[in-house]
Parts: sequence; structure tokens; C-alpha cells
Amino acid sequence: MTSEDTPTTAICSAKGCRTPAVWSVVWNNPKLHPPDRRKVWLACEEHRQHLADFLDVRGFLIEVEPFTPGAPRD
Ligand SMILES: [Zn+2]
Repeated sequence: MTSEDTPTTAICSAKGCRTPAVWSVVWNNPKLHPPDRRKVWLACEEHRQHLADFLDVRGFLIEVEPFTPGAPRD
């Protein structure tokens, strides 16, 4: 098993992207989630802005922070 195949490897959330994630894009949909709920999309360097913009135009974006491997995901 290569490192790319390790299930615990965090991969970018962008569709079709297989790049390891280096950013956590934190968001919340106030119509679906309580205010303290923090949904996380993982993003590589290339897709960080794309994913953040997608959420920001919908008013869902909370913050973008460096991804820490091993941190809890949702
Ligand atoms: Zn990506």
C-alpha cells in the first residue's frame, strides 16, 4: 500500500482532485446546521480559493485555516 492509498490520507474535497489537503475550509449552512456546527472541507493549495469562494458567495464560509493531519474531521 502506497501512501496515496492510505485511507487516513486527507485528500482535497474538490471534485476529482486527488491532491493531499493542506487547508481546512470551515463552513456552516445556517438553514441546516446549528450555529456552533463546523463543517470542514479539505483543500489543496490549488483549490483552496475555489472552495472558499463557493461557500463565501452563499454566506456559508466561516474561515480557512491550515489543515492539521489527524485532527477530527466532519
Ligand atoms: Zn484540490
